[in-house]
Formats: sequence, structure tokens, C-alpha cells
Amino acid sequence: MMGKTHFTIGLATSLLVMRPDSLGECAAALIAGSFGGITPDVDTMNQSNSSRVFLHALVTTLGALVVDFFMDLGICEAILANQTRALLGLIGFVTLWIFGYFSDHRTFTHSLTAMFLFSLCVGCIYEPLALCYMAAYLSHLLLDMLNKKKIPLLYPLDFGVAFKFCYASSKVDTVFWYIGGIVSAVMLVLGFIFSITA
Ligand SMILES: [Zn+2]
Repeated sequence: MMGKTHFTIGLATSLLVMRPDSLGECAAALIAGSFGGITPDVDTMNQSNSSRVFLHALVTTLGALVVDFFMDLGICEAILANQTRALLGLIGFVTLWIFGYFSDHRTFTHSLTAMFLFSLCVGCIYEPLALCYMAAYLSHLLLDMLNKKKIPLLYPLDFGVAFKFCYASSKVDTVFWYIGGIVSAVMLVLGFIFSITA
């Protein structure tokens, strides 16, 4: 699947898991979903079309954090209240990120092993992000399983899954991209409505 498809499906999955009814939850779901959906492809981050998607995730995250900071939504406050744990989580996350960056495509980062390790680090940074991040990460693995190349779910064990249902840049890819975008937009609008009517 293309990076932009993983981005929107990751967002949609995260928002569906969070089911936000406050602006703080909307911001948390955006951060977790945008990064969770694309983290596995850190192993192709040096390619231009892939790095663009990572830039989108970074902008989404920074935007959500700025809104959180100025509107006192609670994420920055909670992170600062547990600085040591958050710092350890961040160091772990960056270490895994670097290891993934230098890994071959669809090896370590495309496994449940990496999903649990990355999610653990995210949970140390800010606990409410962990489940949404993990769900978005899982959405990436499931989508990639539709392609022809096996996904090494139990890395480093030599066990892979591929359903050979479709290929990157196929129509199916575009359909998933639209679904992810529409579901994300609907969930965000609902989250906003609930936040102002609560
Ligand atoms: Zn992938």
C-alpha cells in the first residue's frame, strides 16, 4: 500500500479506537494515528514519496501539540509531569526508529514484535496514546498483508503472511485511501461536536 493510504487508514483506526468526545482526545488520536499508521515504513523513509508522508505525520503531530499547549488539553502537561518516564520512552522510540531505518524493507518494522516494542515506548511517553498507536500500527501490517510480499509477523522467526490480494498503487489502494480520509473526517467532526456539547 502507498504511504498516504497507511496515513489515512492509521488515522481512521486510531480515531475509531479512541472515539474522541473532547479536543484533547482528538489531538491524542491524531498524533497516535498519523505516526502509528506509517511507522512500519520507516524502512523506506529515505525514498522521496515516503519521506513526504512522514513530513505530514510530523506536521499533524506538531499541530496537535501546539493546539494542546495553547488550549491546555492535557497532553503536554501529562508528559511534563512524568518527564523521566517520557524521556526513557522517547529514547527507546528513537532507538527503534534508527534500527528500523537501517533495516531491510518489510523485515523488523513489519512485525508484531516491532509493533509491541514501539507501542511500549509510546505508552511510556504518554499512556493514552499507546492503544491507538498500536491499532494504527496493526492497520499497516494488515494492509501490507494484502500485497504479494510476506509480512514477517513473528520477526525474527522465519514466518510470513501474504494474502496476494492486491498490489501497491492499485485501485484497492485508492479505495482504502478514500475510506481512511472520510472516516477520519467524520470521526473528527463528531469529536468536535461532542466536545462543544458536553
Ligand atoms: Zn509497509
